[in-house]
Amino acid sequence: MPDLKFSCPHCQQHIEADPGYAGMPINCPTCNRGLTVPGVPVPVAVLAPAPIPLTRPTANSATPAWPSSPAGQPAGLVKVAARQSAALWYTNPYAYVGVLMVVLAILYGLGRNHSAVMQAFAVIAIAYIVIVHIIVLIAAFQEGIGTGFLTMCVPFFAVYVVYFVVGNRTLKVLYGAALLLSVALRLLDVHFR
Ligand SMILES: [Zn+2]
Repeated sequence: MPDLKFSCPHCQQHIEADPGYAGMPINCPTCNRGLTVPGVPVPVAVLAPAPIPLTRPTANSATPAWPSSPAGQPAGLVKVAARQSAALWYTNPYAYVGVLMVVLAILYGLGRNHSAVMQAFAVIAIAYIVIVHIIVLIAAFQEGIGTGFLTMCVPFFAVYVVYFVVGNRTLKVLYGAALLLSVALRLLDVHFR
């Protein structure tokens, strides 16, 4: 089956994906915004290697031209590389981190004189830091058992793992935000009462 060819509705980037992506939500490799691959989902059986045709394909069955493309769209073609399945939720970290920071800022603004709101602020901030540390730990153990244990036992080894070993942009953003938040909690002297 030929690859699916379509354009990103947001930035018009040409994208090529294998037919298994039909109907699936993906993130544009260029602008990183969400889109749905056109086409009807293909049953798994159809994805098995097709039998070799007895006749040569005619010129008509060649790769289809681009669907109506507006003028001035970016040139080039981006191929969706690997199937994005479990990793989808963390392909765009900025939205989550942004929302979290706004919520925390509002709580902090409201809560300076209310210990209950301040408590909520502290709980959310600490929960976020703990969750990010767990994610980092999982990533470290995926790199290797040794890396995992070092991350768990050696202070600041996690920084090295996140920024030099794993090399995942999302993890860097999440971890950076967690570090900033830890520092902020110290500076603001937020604690449980
Ligand atoms: Zn795009």
